[in-house]
This record gives sequence, C-alpha cells and structure tokens, in this order.
Amino acid sequence: MQRVQTVGLTILVTIMAVQGLGCAADPGSEARALPAAAAVDSDRLLGAESEPGNWMSYGRTYSEQRFSPLDQIREENVGDLGLAWSFDLETKRGVEATPIVVDGVMYTTSAWSIVHALDARTGTKLWTYDPKVAKDKSKHACCDVVNRGVAVYEGQVFFGALDGRLIALDAATGRVNWSVATVDPKLPYTITGAPRVIDGKVFIGNGGAEYGVRGFIAAYDVSNGERLWQFFTVPGEPAKGFENETMRMAAETWNGEWWKLGGGGGTVWDAMAYDPELDLLYIGVGNGTPWNQEIRSPGGGDNLFLSSIVALRPDTGEYVWHYQTTPGESWDYTATQHIILADMEIEGRTRKVLMQAPKNGFFYVIDRTDGELLSANNYIPITWATHVDMQTGRPVEAEGARYLDKTFLLMPSYLGGHNWHPMSYNPQTGLVYIPVLDIPASYAQPQEGFVYRPGVSNLGIDGVIAGLPDKQAERDALRPLITGRLLAWDPKTQKEAWRVEYNGPWNGGTLTTAGNLVFQGTADAKFVAYRASDGEALWEFPTQTGVVAPAMTYELDGEQYVTVNVGWGGAFALVFGEYIQPESMPNVSRVLTFKLGSKGTLPEVDWKPVVAFNPPEQIASDEVVDEGQSLYQDICNGCHGLNAVSGLLIPDLRGSALLHDQNGWNDVVLGGALRERGMASFAEQVDEKQSAALRAYVISQAIRGKRVQEERAQQ
Ligand code: CA
Repeated sequence: MQRVQTVGLTILVTIMAVQGLGCAADPGSEARALPAAAAVDSDRLLGAESEPGNWMSYGRTYSEQRFSPLDQIREENVGDLGLAWSFDLETKRGVEATPIVVDGVMYTTSAWSIVHALDARTGTKLWTYDPKVAKDKSKHACCDVVNRGVAVYEGQVFFGALDGRLIALDAATGRVNWSVATVDPKLPYTITGAPRVIDGKVFIGNGGAEYGVRGFIAAYDVSNGERLWQFFTVPGEPAKGFENETMRMAAETWNGEWWKLGGGGGTVWDAMAYDPELDLLYIGVGNGTPWNQEIRSPGGGDNLFLSSIVALRPDTGEYVWHYQTTPGESWDYTATQHIILADMEIEGRTRKVLMQAPKNGFFYVIDRTDGELLSANNYIPITWATHVDMQTGRPVEAEGARYLDKTFLLMPSYLGGHNWHPMSYNPQTGLVYIPVLDIPASYAQPQEGFVYRPGVSNLGIDGVIAGLPDKQAERDALRPLITGRLLAWDPKTQKEAWRVEYNGPWNGGTLTTAGNLVFQGTADAKFVAYRASDGEALWEFPTQTGVVAPAMTYELDGEQYVTVNVGWGGAFALVFGEYIQPESMPNVSRVLTFKLGSKGTLPEVDWKPVVAFNPPEQIASDEVVDEGQSLYQDICNGCHGLNAVSGLLIPDLRGSALLHDQNGWNDVVLGGALRERGMASFAEQVDEKQSAALRAYVISQAIRGKRVQEERAQQ
C-alpha cells in the first residue's frame, strides 16, 4: 500500500508542476490536480479495510459487507445531512450501480451500461463513456437494461456492457483500452453485474437463464482482456464430452435433454466475494432454464450447480466446494443474491462464515472454509418448504410445492424474498440489514404443454395463472400482500432484531456505518437514515423517484460524504405495473451526494402517471383473445407488464395508437420498426396470426383498463 501512495504522490507532483500549480494554491480555486486515476492495485484492494475514505470495489472490501468504519456522520448529527451535489445521469431506466470512489474520483454507471467519471467533491463530470449497446438488446434483458457498476485497477475502469462485452477504459480519459466479447453475441446472454478484480484478473459472469443459456463465470487478464479460464455452472451435452471432472459430477444430477432447451441456465449474474486468506472466490449461481424442473430435467435430480454457492480458486477456476440452497430448483430461486463474508463467534468458536439470503426465503450461515451449513432459518413467510434439515443441509419441501398436479401459491415469488439489492452487515451491531420482498405468485404446469422458443422467455409455467386476476376487486385484494420491509436480522440467533414495514416492495440496497446508521432508499422516493441498533428513522430526503440502488460513503479532506444513485427500475418496476406506488415514478436518474450542513435542493418534477385509453371495438373472438393472452404472458410481460399493465418505464401498450392499426402493429412486432427505441422484432417467435392475437388481447385489456379508470373516476 505504501508503494502505491508514493507512486500516486509522484504523479500528483508531476501534474501540479506541468499545470504550474504550487502547493500554496488558493484553497478556493476550481483548478485542482487529482492524483493518478484509479491507482488501485492488489495491495490496496487487500488493505481496503484500512482505507475507509475510499470505496474501491463493489462491496467496499472483498468481504462485501458494505459496512463503512466512517463515523463523522452519526446517529446524533445525521439530521444535519443535506444535498451537497447531484449529477443527472441522462437515462430513463433503472439505476442499480454502487459508485466506486478512489482518491477523489467517482466512477459509476447508469442504464444502458453508460460509465461516468465525476469529481467526488463537486459532481463535476470528468468523462462519460457510452458503449452504444444496440437498443433492441433489451429483448434479452429479463430485468431492465440495468448495470450495477464498475471495477477499477491499475489505472483502468472495467465494466460489462449489456450485450456481453467486457470493456477496459483508461481511468484518466475514459478511452477504450480493450474490449472483448465474453459470450456468443447471437445467444440471449446479458451482463448487468459489476466485475471484480483479484490479483490482475477481472471476473465477470452473465445473465439470461430466463431465455435459455448455459451459465458460466470467467477470468480475464486485466492487461489485454485475454480469457484465462472459464467455469461452467451446469453440464453441457454429455455426448460432446465434459470440460472437467466437476462437470461430469454435475451431470450425474441431471435428467432429460436440458441442453436442447437453451443450455440449463445457472447464470452467475451478480454475487461474488473473495477470501484472500483461504484464496477462495465465492460465486452465486442462478435458476434453471426453464424454471419448471419437470420440463428441464424430468424425473428430478439436484441439477448442480443451479441455485448454489460455489467456491473456486481464482487463479485457475478450479472447483473447491459448493452448497446448493435449492436442489432441483423449479421456481426461479436463484442463489445469485449478495454474499457477505465475516468472522463470527458461534457457540464459543470463531467461525469464518459466509452469509446469504437468497430468493428462496432462507437465511444461510455457512462455514466458508468447506461449505458446511451452520444454520438456516426463513427470514420471510414461505410456503414452498417447512425448514432446512440440519442433518442433510437440504430444505424440506411442502407438499404440492412443485405444482405438478395443481396450482401452488408460492411464497416467496420468482422475485424472491430478497433480490439483487445488496444487504449489509454491521460488525458493531452484529446485524444484517436485508431489503426484503414479500410477494406471492401462483405456479402451475403449462396447460397447452411447453414450447421452447429460442431467444425469448422460456419459463415452463402457466403464464395466465401466474398473471393477475381479471376482477379488479380481486386485484385490489392482492395489493396489501405485495409488500416489502427493511429487516434487521441477527445471523447468530437466526432471528429478526427489528423491521421497518414499507407500503410496497422493491426498495433499495442498504449501507451501514460505524455511526450506528443504516441508509436505504425506498420505492416511494425517499432516502432514509435509520439507527442501526433499533431501526428508528432519524433523517430522510425526498428523491423524486423510486430508489433501488444501495448507498455508499467516502471521505475527502476530512469530510464524510454519502452517495446514492436514484432512478426507479428493474424487474418489479417492469412487471408489476398494477402495484407500483405512484411515488416510484417517474424515473429521474441521478447521482445524489450528501454531507453534513449542506442544504441543496432538486428541481421540481411535474409528472402524473395516467394512461390515456382509446381502444377500438373488440372484433376478435374470445378464443383469439385467449390465445393472445397466453402468448403475451409467456413472452411480453417481462417488459410490458403482467396483463399489459405497464410500470411506465416504457409506454403502456393499452394506450398505443397501434391498437387501431394491425399493419402498423405488425411493423413493430414483426418488422422491428421501433428497434431503435428498444422494441426488437419478434418475427422469429411470432407469426402474423399470433401478432393479431396479441393485439386483440391488448385491446381487451385497454377496454378493461378504460372501464376501471371510469369506475374509479365516479367513486
Ligand atoms: Ca431468474
């Protein structure tokens, strides 16, 4: 660490000399030399705990605790926190990134994988890099065109573009040093996660398991992007031979011909953590393709390494151990959720633990040396399992949970009890702060059988049953069941410590600090500071848009700053239009930075979430409308919303003028006329007759929506 500081200082002095600046420069002067950009190396990353003023990697340190030792802002004075600066991100989709701050420079991303470097003191833009992802790539993005941030190392900024490129930028200028395709661009892979760097290697996985891909993580040389190793999470077609013994072992746990249905899934789209002492890289593995195991692997099997935490050697990608949270996954129960490492005294022994609250609703404490399960308990109400058997380490499933014969009301839903929004662990309180979702969903076998459609969503469940009831009274009755909370969880006792209930789900990730604070943005457009020990709300700021990203904190010139990216979006925002709180909308994407004593304000936003219904008369038969509904719920609702109710990140189809114009509708759905605006052509999946059925279904929902709107206006 000392070496780097010396190098940084040398460069700083050189820059100052070139610019003619003396050390006695006017402290109020705008012109100010910055040290060498992103001068982070392995020693600094390993020693990140001792540099609380910087936030040098996604979860601050390799342990990914998202705990900051900074305590200038604390429970006693957080009421004086105010807006120091804001930066407009100029995109209108979900913002999920955690900014990185190194030596006074902030690096963050917005939607469409656009990277910004900002002066961390003022928010002044240093550079922006737009990888110009083709807008119709959104067709393969299950959960919005989001990006969760960058990694920095030795003067470079690394990020994954939505279309699967891994790109290295010069941290000083934002110019491209190298760019590699990490996936076959023809396949429906995407990248939304943040890379991590360990010892000169940059690691990135991908998403796409809803569509049909074979998941993997790979390591790349930071100097040129050369791929050094690749670890697949699910086996390929056995007749083609296995890449290694681990894949041979995994294949023993599969049945059927999963490779013909898109490749098995198991994408590594978010969580990674690293223990330098054990030299283990931990990854979280996602769901299967399709979700329904009866179709994917008929007759069962654990289907390794779906829904597993896997420990790998970062140098070689060699498998070391795994723990599977959901054997035979059949519900989109990913284990890609945030992984936190900590050392914790359990029953008188200090254990090196790994903690995860994956989608399936159980909180796991695992010995990270060997994968032994230490404890597990459900952190939300669940219906699919009764408990985890501590002898076998396996969940005990509830009768009917696999929805083989009849519809099963699943809790948590496919969005999970906890999704990608990072949790945090405060070693001073001993608590984990989890942004919890509490949403039910109905699962059933597809009535008409399963059709695999390459390039679009292939879930293998009945999309109509998984959708919303037609009667508005029934939809309204569901509203209080679709909720969320901030949950403070004691991992030692596996019990709740306190909670803050919210009016809806999909609130932001959390940050906790040594000031006895927890920061969280909310779906109803607030940024809130809570007392970490008891959950009392101490301060809030109106953000004008729903917040999904986690906050971070840093220190410069003796002042502590707290930053949160705001901008509503993500899977819930797209799919659950019926239940989105009006306060979440519109999307106003910004970086907001706070410090004590500041009093900044934001310009007013004037926006009302109203859909203008003007549907034509319905001339299609009930059969055609039903066909359209089934097709819509299979392949359209991921972006346009369940039952054609949009979350308004993208226009609501029920208000479309094209409902009056079948030819114009076909130009869009089949011809790709709105490709540049993010609506891809679906000509490979949908024929003209099906396109007409889709339009008929949306007309039926526009007529329905208009009626509900008029009834509400009369009340
Ligand atoms: Ca998924």
